[in-house]
Amino acid sequence: MKKERTLAEPFRIKMVEPLRMTTVEYRKDVLQKAGYNPFLLSSDDVYIDLLTDSGTSAMSDHQWSAMMLGDESYAGAHSWEKLEREVKDLTGMNYVLPTHQGRAAERILYGILGGKDKVFISNTHFDTTRANIEFTGATAIDCMSEESQDPDADLPFKGNMDIEQARESILKYGKENIGAVILTVTNNSSGGQPVSMENTKQVRELCDEFGILFVLDGCRIAENSYFIKHREANFDGKTYRQIAQQMLSLCDAFIMSAKKDALVNMGGLLVLRNELLAQKSTNLLIISEGFATYGGLSGRDMEAMAVGLQEVFDAGYLHYRIKSTEYLGKHLHEKGVPLIRPYGGHAIYIDAKKFYSHIPAHQFPGQALVCDLYEQGGIRCVEVGSVMFGKYDEHGNHVAPKNELVRLAIPRRVYTQSHIDYVIDVFDDIVEMKNQARGLEIVYEPPFLRHFTARFKRL
Ligand SMILES: *Cc1c(COP(=O)(O)O)cnc(C)c1O
Repeated sequence: MKKERTLAEPFRIKMVEPLRMTTVEYRKDVLQKAGYNPFLLSSDDVYIDLLTDSGTSAMSDHQWSAMMLGDESYAGAHSWEKLEREVKDLTGMNYVLPTHQGRAAERILYGILGGKDKVFISNTHFDTTRANIEFTGATAIDCMSEESQDPDADLPFKGNMDIEQARESILKYGKENIGAVILTVTNNSSGGQPVSMENTKQVRELCDEFGILFVLDGCRIAENSYFIKHREANFDGKTYRQIAQQMLSLCDAFIMSAKKDALVNMGGLLVLRNELLAQKSTNLLIISEGFATYGGLSGRDMEAMAVGLQEVFDAGYLHYRIKSTEYLGKHLHEKGVPLIRPYGGHAIYIDAKKFYSHIPAHQFPGQALVCDLYEQGGIRCVEVGSVMFGKYDEHGNHVAPKNELVRLAIPRRVYTQSHIDYVIDVFDDIVEMKNQARGLEIVYEPPFLRHFTARFKRL
């Protein structure tokens, strides 16, 4: 059989950013000094940084040259007009509000829709979404089927909302108390899993039935469109952009962290169909972010975003993006590393509970793997398990979350295929040494969001 060709980059490199190779001994030393928490490492000491795909994209020559055209006028800048045109064309919605990042758009919209006694329903609320909702006194409810939460269930659209659960919640709390239904695409907190167009239509129908606002949290809508085209019937002849446009035509509001699929390092959007809601939101935007034609952004940021929103739907780019993530997953799977499958769009998730099965949850198997990957390969990634979501009961005993995961998030257009091959090679050592892996103990933790600043020691 003919050998499959290598997954070659659909770009060439015009500017290089040198990376420093360090030794295992050096990394063991700096990791210990960082309290075994890679958030506390200097990025100069990291060789491959898979901590997040947020704000870490490489911009294109077109984006950089557009930045030179940035109009920094306070009001009515042509850079704003360009971005507004682009977003209106993509979303089909009339009211575009620029923000400095996604959570600023969330704070504005959920600040208006939220409040005590209000309830929000989502497939899965992303953590900043939940925080902005709960901050208003409202409740955030996730509606996912049992099956879609099983790491081994091989389903094409594992990010879908469970419509029956959503309906039950509406009936339970009363339609007048529902702030909005929020569909997150791709579903970040459930492993970057896609949502089908069929499911989006069902959410639309549910919202119509009860007269509820439908918000799309769509910061990875281009990646989601890729999955729809290749997994859902009747989308073969459509472009990725057309698929995104169809999905956007089904909702009332669109929130986007531009740090993901707009291929920029900072930025966000709040886009609305309803005039009254847009007026209220604009008032809050002006109080907290900036004037309505720049939000929290400079003119050059808006130029780069307008170009990024075009480039992200390029077929060559999306093919490489999704296949590169899949390639990493496939090869780790072949080495016997337990993963969430099928593979999501922006990240690979390792099941650390299975992989380091000899380390109990209260000794943080995910964090142990994160540390081993850094020491062995200079690879930085993040634990999504007991460190991030663990709690204590009234006796001070550790209460573990359902899963102990490690996320390898892939920045967009940053690493080449040989970087990914390098990551795969490092796993040879990780697999070989897995029985000697040791857990960790917390020596310092803050009261909130402990994963960012907690310090550990090895057991
Ligand atoms: C990143 C993200 C956000 C928040 O965006 P920021 O730009 O980080 O503030 C909201 N929702 C989802 C699904 C995200 O992935």
